[in-house]
Amino acid sequence: MPEYIDSHAHLNFDAFDNDRAAVYQRARQAGITAIIEVGVGLDGSRKALARAAEEEMVFGAAGLHPTELDRFDEQWDEFEELVRTGAPVAVGECGLDYYWMKATKEKQAESFRRQLELARDVGLPFIVHCRDADDDMIAILREVGYSRGVTHCFGGTCAHAEQVLELGLHISFCGNVTFRKNTQAQAAAKAVPLDRLLLETDSPFLSPEGKRGKRNEPSHVVFTARFLAELMDVELDTLAETTTANARRLFDL
Ligand SMILES: [Zn+2]
Repeated sequence: MPEYIDSHAHLNFDAFDNDRAAVYQRARQAGITAIIEVGVGLDGSRKALARAAEEEMVFGAAGLHPTELDRFDEQWDEFEELVRTGAPVAVGECGLDYYWMKATKEKQAESFRRQLELARDVGLPFIVHCRDADDDMIAILREVGYSRGVTHCFGGTCAHAEQVLELGLHISFCGNVTFRKNTQAQAAAKAVPLDRLLLETDSPFLSPEGKRGKRNEPSHVVFTARFLAELMDVELDTLAETTTANARRLFDL
């Protein structure tokens, strides 16, 4: 059976409070050998690292999401301390979200830049969240000049994908790439070389075609993998093997 890594999930969310153990179990049965639990705020990042300490297949990432910046200034020192001492496998998710626009563009840029610089300083990869802000994201990445990271749930155009790849980042697609009308993400996926591709679910959000409308969970990563294998015209086993190796290398798992 092919082995997969779900490089981005939020199993700490309430949506899993009643059956979290069963979700991990189904993931194992589906061939998922590692899950990155991604923090979206100071508290969530602490919980992600705590989960990683107790669950063998889970690795934690610590980040301040662009929609969670209300207390950015007062939380920064504590966040930095957590990244330096809490043994995350990545800094993130961090980035820009102009869809929800919960903080000014300036604040989002500052938070993104500082998290990229922190990742660089401590020698960790980063996980980018970007919604409707691809040009600014690319400009900040270019300015900071550190590219050991991944843009998760990629939603940009083919041209954006090419720029992100040129900078040296990995690109990850979640379940929504399988939606019939999501031709933009599908076109972008075709531009990604297999050795830069990661798989993720972004559970509990965005369940792929086949499980659409249901709560998403790591075992569903297989649906996205099958879809991408067909789209990119590669064997499923090759895609599984390569994306798994990519995730292990990027996050040092
Ligand atoms: Zn996420």
